[in-house]
Amino acid sequence: MSVPYDDVVRWIRAFAATIAENKSYLTELDSAIGDADHGINMDRGMQAALAKVDALPPGDVGALFKAVGMALVSSVGGAGGPLYGTLFLQLGTATAGRAELTEEDWSAALTAAVQGVQARGKAELEDKTMVDALAPARDAFAGAAADGSTFGEALRRSAAAAEDGMKRTIPLVARKGRASYLGERSAGHQDPGATSSYLLLKTAAETWDGG
Ligand code: ADP
Ligand code: MG
Repeated sequence: MSVPYDDVVRWIRAFAATIAENKSYLTELDSAIGDADHGINMDRGMQAALAKVDALPPGDVGALFKAVGMALVSSVGGAGGPLYGTLFLQLGTATAGRAELTEEDWSAALTAAVQGVQARGKAELEDKTMVDALAPARDAFAGAAADGSTFGEALRRSAAAAEDGMKRTIPLVARKGRASYLGERSAGHQDPGATSSYLLLKTAAETWDGG
């Protein structure tokens, strides 16, 4: 199985819709350990991205990801928007000129994206950030692909690893971002960025899982 351009667009639309549905939830999570804007930020960014996607000549997955990344960087302030912007820009660089994505393409793109987020935000595993969902998702996908799993199965495992990583942020004390200002008081709350990152991988699995 490979994922054609149109299905990549479907994923971007599904992610935007999921963010819109979870806007209040994400903002609620951010109100506990941040400044109560993560859902608002992500929704504004993804709506801006959709407007760009609609105007794009179809066919180039890399150009699509870059357009989403640029929209996020230019429409969202704070930490989350630029970090998601970097994620999509790196997905775009890794898939430049592709009309479809193979399992290997997605593994390489996800690896580049996580690398980009970490290069920009300097967060390591267990700093209580989106990296806690993204890095396990990347590893689970690569591991599944190496084991000979289908693209669909690898996507499901990657989403499950992101969900697990998201839940594991609850007891952690934040060491990066706004939540780190709270010190020990950040423990006991799920990280909003890890939550939106889980939603990103979950919608990819749901949209692309053709087996
Ligand atoms: P802000 O913190 O500027 O209000 P958002 O609320 O949109 O931005 O996003 C907050 C999320 O961004 C956090 O929950 C965390 O997952 C993520 N984040 C913050 N700083 C970093 C960082 N340095 N590296 C990775 N992710 C980060
Ligand atoms: Mg915030």
